[in-house]
Amino acid sequence: MSNETIGHFINGQNVPDSGRSQDVFNPATGQAVRKVALAARSTVEDAIAAAEAAFPEWRNTPPIKRARIMFRFKELLEQNAEKVAALITEEHGKVLHDALGEFQRGVEVVEYACGAPELLKGEHSKNVGPAIDSWSEFQPLGVVAGITPFNFPAMVPMWMYPMAIVCGNTFVLKPSERDPSAPLFIAQLFQQAGLPDGVFNVVNGDREAVDTLLADPRVQAVSFVGSTPIAEYIYSTGSANGKRVQALGGAKNHAIVMPDADMDNAVSALMGAAYGSCGERCMAISVAVAVGDDTADALVSKLKDELAELKVGNGNDNSNNMGPLVTGEARDRVKGYIDLGVEEGADLVVDGRGLVVEGCEEGFFLGGTLFDRVTQEMKIYNDEIFGPVLCVVRAQNMQEAMDLIDNHEYGNGTCIFTRDGEAARYFSDNIKVGMVGVNVPLPVPVAYHSFGGWKRSLFGDLFAYGPDSVRFYTRRKTITQRWPKGGVREKAQYTFPSSN
Ligand code: NAD
Repeated sequence: MSNETIGHFINGQNVPDSGRSQDVFNPATGQAVRKVALAARSTVEDAIAAAEAAFPEWRNTPPIKRARIMFRFKELLEQNAEKVAALITEEHGKVLHDALGEFQRGVEVVEYACGAPELLKGEHSKNVGPAIDSWSEFQPLGVVAGITPFNFPAMVPMWMYPMAIVCGNTFVLKPSERDPSAPLFIAQLFQQAGLPDGVFNVVNGDREAVDTLLADPRVQAVSFVGSTPIAEYIYSTGSANGKRVQALGGAKNHAIVMPDADMDNAVSALMGAAYGSCGERCMAISVAVAVGDDTADALVSKLKDELAELKVGNGNDNSNNMGPLVTGEARDRVKGYIDLGVEEGADLVVDGRGLVVEGCEEGFFLGGTLFDRVTQEMKIYNDEIFGPVLCVVRAQNMQEAMDLIDNHEYGNGTCIFTRDGEAARYFSDNIKVGMVGVNVPLPVPVAYHSFGGWKRSLFGDLFAYGPDSVRFYTRRKTITQRWPKGGVREKAQYTFPSSN
């Protein structure tokens, strides 16, 4: 392990923290590679103070000037893509090509943010009454905090701060303590792009840092992405403290495979969506609902054949399909779910528990795992496992398959594989899920739409990035203006003002 400790980025400066710290692991080797500082309350307060001090000037910086910094930031991001991907792979474990994919989706949010002058134009109405004009403008909130999960160390923070900042807010990011290097490096690139000191700050840490952000009255709004229990805690605590909060939580995404689906393509799509990034994606497909036993038999047999070919290994080798889980603890938890599935009576078709990767014997690996005949009562069906485990559930018809999805506590993403347009339209119109794919297994909205789930996958009203983010990171103000004719005295009006 190097002696390096990843610190914080406050007011344009790298800030070491001499207090608590914890190890950061390379999941492929199982070795600690560096440490990350865990911010004390006072360090977080320094970051909030820096953001608060930077706000008045940044708020009044013309949106076109903010956008120009975004353009430069985007260029620097693109020039440093390989370096960021390498940092992600080293600490998260995902394969390099997958790390580049996540990074690109983050950069697309920066591209959207470059349109700030257009996005912030507001709404104007002339002559709402005699010689009266009215307009609504979208004013920034002030200091905004973001708290993010380990599974997309670059992309998920970039769902938040580019839009918050381009809207005129200043920002304090608390990334995951498991893979802190990429977000810290990216903050330095933003600085190089010309961002004034204090507009974007990063504090690494754990619950102490999060609780400081939630309690501090200077923080106006909080964006959170992570597991559902923590999302609920963030939402209730932040709201009770008077903050605007959006908290995106966990998921259990189902794909329905209809009897008329193009089976080979559905199987390829499911392999990527279930096992890509080792299943550690909030949009991963973890349940395949096969409609009819013939469909289920064909699906399971083809998935089994594909799993025999799945290449699992060190993420720094781009020929691998899947890397390790993020920590030994995560690997053991997922293994525990596979043990449980067997106890619960599901049919274990492919068992990933015995996998050893040559040269990476200490890494946190698990092979791709497939269960058949999973039922609604089982814990492996209900819980978010967050690993390379796909459960096949058998349904007799499409309505039964849709009822399963609607009755599940999560409602993040879903997909239907079919050739029937009428069935697809009925499904997307009626299913109680926030993001729906038709023959698209990971329907992650592009940067100019917005991302969010329904039910216990999202606490709050507005989705992340896209048009919703302009609403979330601004406060509407509506101004009504009249210039009466000089020298003419008007009588007092005691009726309520109307256009009559
Ligand atoms: P997590 O909830 O453990 O951690 C998320 C953040 O919360 C981290 O920054 C962490 O430091 C902080 N945190 C953890 N425990 C805390 C506590 N007790 N008090 C205060 N803060 C705490 O999530 P994770 O394991 O890093 O990420 C995986 C989870 O994130 C999965 O459930 C996944 O579905 C979810 N996720 C959801 C989305 C989405 O868009 N809905 C996207 C990505 C990940």
